[in-house]
Amino acid sequence: MKPPIQIDPWSVIEASWNPEAHIMSESLFALGNGRMGHRANHEEAFSGKHLQGSYVAGIYYPDKTKVGWWKNGYPEYFAKVLNSVNYIGIDVKVNGETLDLNKARVSDFYRELSMEHGLLSRHFTATLDNGVSLRVEAQRFLSIIRDEVSAQRYSITLDQPAELVLEPFLDFNVVNADANWDESFWAQEGHEAGSWVKAKTKKLDFVVAAAMECVLEGVQGQAKGHAVGREGYASQVFTLNAEAGTAYTLHKYVGVVSSMNASATEVESKAQARATEAQAAGYEALLAEQRSAWRAKWDHADIVIDGDDSAQQGIRFNIFHLLQTFTGVDPRLNIGPKGFTGEKYGGSTYWDTEAYCLPFYLASTDPEVGKNLLLYRYRQLDKAIENASKLGFSDGAALYPMVTMNGEECHNEWEITFEEIHRNGAISYGIYTYLRHTRDYGYLAKGGLEVLVAIARFWAQRVNWSDDKELFVILGVTGPNEYENNVNNNYYTNFMAAWCLEYAAECADYVAQNQPEAYAALSAKMDLESDEIEQWEAIRSTMYYPYSEKHGVYLQQDGFLDKELVPAAQLDPAERPINQKWSWDRILRSPYIKQADTLQGMFFFEDRTPVETLKKHFDFYEPLTLHESSLSPSVHTVLACRLGYAAKAYELYHRTARLDLDDYNNEVYQGLHVTAMGGAWMAVVYGFGGMRLVGENLHFKPFLPEQWSGLTFHLRWRGSLLALRIEPNQLKVSNLEGSMATFYVNDQPQNLAAGSQQSYTLS
Ligand code: BGC
Repeated sequence: MKPPIQIDPWSVIEASWNPEAHIMSESLFALGNGRMGHRANHEEAFSGKHLQGSYVAGIYYPDKTKVGWWKNGYPEYFAKVLNSVNYIGIDVKVNGETLDLNKARVSDFYRELSMEHGLLSRHFTATLDNGVSLRVEAQRFLSIIRDEVSAQRYSITLDQPAELVLEPFLDFNVVNADANWDESFWAQEGHEAGSWVKAKTKKLDFVVAAAMECVLEGVQGQAKGHAVGREGYASQVFTLNAEAGTAYTLHKYVGVVSSMNASATEVESKAQARATEAQAAGYEALLAEQRSAWRAKWDHADIVIDGDDSAQQGIRFNIFHLLQTFTGVDPRLNIGPKGFTGEKYGGSTYWDTEAYCLPFYLASTDPEVGKNLLLYRYRQLDKAIENASKLGFSDGAALYPMVTMNGEECHNEWEITFEEIHRNGAISYGIYTYLRHTRDYGYLAKGGLEVLVAIARFWAQRVNWSDDKELFVILGVTGPNEYENNVNNNYYTNFMAAWCLEYAAECADYVAQNQPEAYAALSAKMDLESDEIEQWEAIRSTMYYPYSEKHGVYLQQDGFLDKELVPAAQLDPAERPINQKWSWDRILRSPYIKQADTLQGMFFFEDRTPVETLKKHFDFYEPLTLHESSLSPSVHTVLACRLGYAAKAYELYHRTARLDLDDYNNEVYQGLHVTAMGGAWMAVVYGFGGMRLVGENLHFKPFLPEQWSGLTFHLRWRGSLLALRIEPNQLKVSNLEGSMATFYVNDQPQNLAAGSQQSYTLS
């Protein structure tokens, strides 16, 4: 059963009690603030099916690698996103009976996540076995400004006089649902009754402390609770003779501090300081701060869709999670596929960041946010070089990991770890995206070029010359379509490799021409000579791409046409998703494609792909594509818009933007698909909004679905802030601040000075 989520433009609302779907709602109502986050676990006890989950950014555990047969080059560990201290819990007892929402009779249940303000509210009535009914109104948020602070308000009213015990607690006795070898990941490091708990990861020595201040109102002013403490646990117990009809309101302020931001011996005192400061500010002031900070974020990140509330809610849900997962204040952090909403996908960073998320952050948040995503990779360059050298590469070649927390590879399926090397292409492409977007070419000399050169070196060593073809080939890879492994000449991989070589050479030339001193220093540091760059060009210009004359398309890989090309539409729906229903052997032999592969390259380089070429490839590959990766429908939406495939674009847009809200893949209980949310943003802005980069130039070719009467969004673009309003046949652009903006509408160049606006009739 799926939780019935109401359609609302600004909120996620569940207005009925669905205990069996609670584990899914825990994902859908999750909160985060870039530094920490938690699933929407109930404050009260809940003995039904759920996944307890609170996560602190950057804290992980190197779990022993679980493989059947060891292969040289495997990473030693798989990084686990760690379930950390539970700081939202409040136990409730009435006349000695614990309120367990799975056992009590619950009515009038309502929960709402305000995406506008990052605020989760609930209310319900519960009747206990002892006959007492109670009414709860609860609210909580993670401060987006004070990112080590959680604030809660919990109000309870009984229908008859009774002894009421409220016990707000911090509990570090937590486990991961997903843990190999039954290892426990935390060692308790101390506690103080009523105040704080602290634990250390058993490997790597990350330390996290949580401290709280709790205040109860409603009993002769304010009361402090009785302090309780034991290993890994601290609580305050408020016992009162509650009157019928009186609301007792508890405020719980929590500070959570990790050794990423404080010394291991100071984390508890810093956590206490955060909690005390929050209490001193008071709940209402913190909430006012929260509302205005979120409002400010939305001012430039919002997308308004007129006439389609379901589409509107979908895109806001995606933007909300992108904003609360990564705030860009710390270049050591990144965007994990599940953000703060679940444990699956160990590690925080995939190629998803550059390929899917970066454009959103560049267009919708402060320039430093996108820059920090680039710095993240630059800071990990040494590890990427080390990773490549473990696999036999040399001379400064870098292979970035497929999955990482700290720059080390922590994925251990050979076909992904060793073969899904296309990820290196996305890292270079991220730099390209950043530079085209910002024109911050100074970044090349400050790190960008080193990354591009190290990646180019990898490709130059990874190709081999085929005497038979008299061309360079790339053997034994897995492309983005993970339903094929160990293939030769994956078109996307070969294409990206060639482009990386070309782009590294172009950027080296740019720095040499424009910053000769910096270039001299960098080329000495990297031992980069002109003959090496010439060799890149020789490889690029003689790269092999599998092609079918018969179909007029580049083939996903050598031998693709040996498959029985039966369209996905002919598959029995009961057999889907095939990754849950079929053996791997059957998947590998099938023609089915998990996500954009050949088309991913054409998406990245639309400006090099004539529309007829795109059409041929889309018509050939999309019918074989199952979109069983969350990353798939968004890219296809953008391409369908370009091809004028209105129905397909609209269908796939819903599939990407409402993937989690409607639980298309039946897996939302594990957490949300946060990195795919960047794709949903691209589906709207690149797809329907028609934003396109043609070489260095910004173009708009909107393609509004007939269901939408208008579309509005903002775009930070090279120092300007643009507001765009699209209506059928019309585009209005306002240049709100910054410098003169140059862009193309109907393929005609337009200049728009800061502070002015212009309407264009669309042809
Ligand atoms: C996709 C990858 C992606 C990963 C994390 C996989 O299912 O095939 O392309 O990087 O999920 O989102």
